[in-house]
Amino acid sequence: MEKIISLCKRRGFVYQGSEIYGGLAGTWDYGPLGVELKNNVKQLWWRMFVQERDDMCGLDAAILMNPKAWEASGHVSGFSDPLVECKKCKRRFRADQVGEKCPECGGSFGEVRQFNMMFKTQIGATEDAESVSYLRPETAGGIFVNFKNVVDSFHPKLPFGIAQIGKAFRNEIAPRDFVFRSREFEQMEIEYFVRPGNWEEAFEDWRNEVHRWLAAVGIDASKTTELEVADGDRAHYSKRTIDFEFEFPFGHKELYGLAYRTDFDLSAHAGASGADLSFLDDSVEGGGKRFVPHVIEPSFGVDRTILAILASVYTEDELGGETRTYLKFNKAVAPIKAAVFPLLKNKPELVAKAREVYSMLKKQVPQIMWDDNGNIGKRYRRQDEIGTPSCITIDFDTLGENPELLDTVTVRDRDTGEQRRVAIVDLVSIIS
Ligand code: ATP
Repeated sequence: MEKIISLCKRRGFVYQGSEIYGGLAGTWDYGPLGVELKNNVKQLWWRMFVQERDDMCGLDAAILMNPKAWEASGHVSGFSDPLVECKKCKRRFRADQVGEKCPECGGSFGEVRQFNMMFKTQIGATEDAESVSYLRPETAGGIFVNFKNVVDSFHPKLPFGIAQIGKAFRNEIAPRDFVFRSREFEQMEIEYFVRPGNWEEAFEDWRNEVHRWLAAVGIDASKTTELEVADGDRAHYSKRTIDFEFEFPFGHKELYGLAYRTDFDLSAHAGASGADLSFLDDSVEGGGKRFVPHVIEPSFGVDRTILAILASVYTEDELGGETRTYLKFNKAVAPIKAAVFPLLKNKPELVAKAREVYSMLKKQVPQIMWDDNGNIGKRYRRQDEIGTPSCITIDFDTLGENPELLDTVTVRDRDTGEQRRVAIVDLVSIIS
């Protein structure tokens, strides 16, 4: 884990939040490569679960919501973790994550109490009970309160789903394990609305979809397991929940959740808001009946996805007699798809041709990097470390020193280290 964290910082994937001020616990900033990686993950997800399907639509709801929505969903009264405080050093811990004694000073703990994880904030210039609101602790809330809007404007047929990607905030008692548990993070969530009798089938479909996603994004299947959450451990409204766990470097932990939430959310919001959140089923089988749809919720954490990818692709091997570290990203998520080098930095004709190739490629595959620093071996190692699948070198043969090789370049493969000679005109299809 230390190796991954240090590579992330060194190569501009993830920095500690507010680092120059000593940091802010539970926050992380994604650097130039981290933001590319994260955007690739989100775009792939959006494409797979929204754009490529006929039964899904997207949403981007506000982070701040009317607090009544969080009262109705049960978050204001019940979104809490058990907290204990050490009687001696006063440090606070999550009761389910520590033993009998304080891990810092060995002191004993006081009573366990429930700590609400909602971030409270003030709306507007007056500071009273009326102006209290919350930063959303999950993106799902915005989906449920927009259910009627989407139904009224799109008239979807059941089953259908609404997807949203966005920030969520939880005042975690003990943020830890790098981006695994932070106080500000991102989620990709789907609420999939079904007829009550069809939930099992939809649940199975989404279970398969989660596996398809894991493969597409490059998370090691041999490190993922499903945990069927037992009756007593599930949220009271959920009739079935599976946690998809990943073998993180610090242990087997939840990566994603898949839950059957019955009609709990829509019914709760209908009751609290007075809005009619039922669905008129005018299909032949539905016969014009109104009912509240039931929901299957696959919930994906963006940051845990990033960490699981990094843990899956981090590789150390030996190449050409030297040990090297590289990130074996698949092409879809790799932050940089290819790097372009002139063989020598001090030969203007090589640099000019390399710039031409670079500009041509960048217009079609924007995630391209230019590198002319140090010798070729060093450049390869740098690109390996950030997981660039292909390195393209412009040499004298490209310029026609050997006329047969005019307008060809070498393309070096990250995983094997092998080079092949290809025509410039074929580069876009090779790297995209
Ligand atoms: P945990 O038990 O680990 O606290 P949870 O069961 O509370 O997680 P959910 O409420 O199911 O998590 O949230 C859905 C998803 O959001 C999780 O599967 C995870 O990927 C992500 N997530 C939840 N809390 C955090 C956090 N503090 N930091 C980063 N990602 C998170």
